[in-house]
Amino acid sequence: MTEAADFAAFPKLELHLHHEGAAPPEFIRRLAGEKKVDLGGIFDEQGHYAYEDFWHFLKVYEAATEVLKTPEDYARLTTAVLEESAASGVIYTETFLSPDFCGGRDLGAWKEYLHAIREAADRAERDLGITMRGIITCIRHFGPDKARETARCAAETAGDWITGFGIAGDEKAGKPKDFAWSFDMCREAGLQLTAHAGEWGGPQSIKDALDDLKVSRIGHGVRAIEDLELVDRLAEEGIILEVCPGSNVALGIYPNTRCHPIEMLRERGVKVTVSTDDPPFFHSTMAKEYEALHNAFGWDEEVFGQITQTALEAAFCDAATKEKLAKRLETRA
Ligand SMILES: [Zn+2]
Repeated sequence: MTEAADFAAFPKLELHLHHEGAAPPEFIRRLAGEKKVDLGGIFDEQGHYAYEDFWHFLKVYEAATEVLKTPEDYARLTTAVLEESAASGVIYTETFLSPDFCGGRDLGAWKEYLHAIREAADRAERDLGITMRGIITCIRHFGPDKARETARCAAETAGDWITGFGIAGDEKAGKPKDFAWSFDMCREAGLQLTAHAGEWGGPQSIKDALDDLKVSRIGHGVRAIEDLELVDRLAEEGIILEVCPGSNVALGIYPNTRCHPIEMLRERGVKVTVSTDDPPFFHSTMAKEYEALHNAFGWDEEVFGQITQTALEAAFCDAATKEKLAKRLETRA
């Protein structure tokens, strides 16, 4: 097992995937063409997304998202994203959905988008054998007031399919405690919680997310490695890290996979999982992430098996869904 193609057959669970960020560029171009929207400047000569750094990446991301307007667009996006994931061996995916982009945080509109996304997801489950669940994310740089509106959409649609709430966007905007009200509301609605931290922010950003938002999972969290006491706390408390090595390398947080702290965190007892974040932006797939980790650290089937078990335990879906997934992992079906 050394090539991405070999790793594609390995059944995978992905916990950290931004729905719009997973949009294949050819899908966005096609949609822009149909709508006669000029997206010039966001693609390079090879047709990939083009950006300079993280903040520019956010701009390109939002520009690409501009063509996704209607529930039908989101249904088509869902199909395109799940096809890509399934081709990489993903049997279960938790995708970040933003009522900010789906209906401007209006609850009635959000329900229409959600209905369209779920229909497409149900179809993909039947046809491709991939199960999807949604985690609603507020966008940090849109501020705490808008986050409250997003949290209301999350709480009102919480259930067996919308199973989590989180926060994404520019980690340097505001503090986690500014968003505590939204997280409290979603916890009371039965949603499980995750927050992006320790990607652009240092160890303190992770401590703040744990203390102020009381999340069970951290999106990224890799910069915990700069504070070994925090690493030990993560291990002791069983906090799950949704690690996206390819994203961190593509955005320049680490120069290459070998320098990425995922292996050190794992060796010190932290529960790490592997995801792609916004795969086409980073020229990544789940199979490529596995290949890179195998090449950098010699991770083999046994290690990937442990990572997958960790992801299964940490998944925000219900027990019946976990049981079904566990059976598929056992039989590698
Ligand atoms: Zn992310």
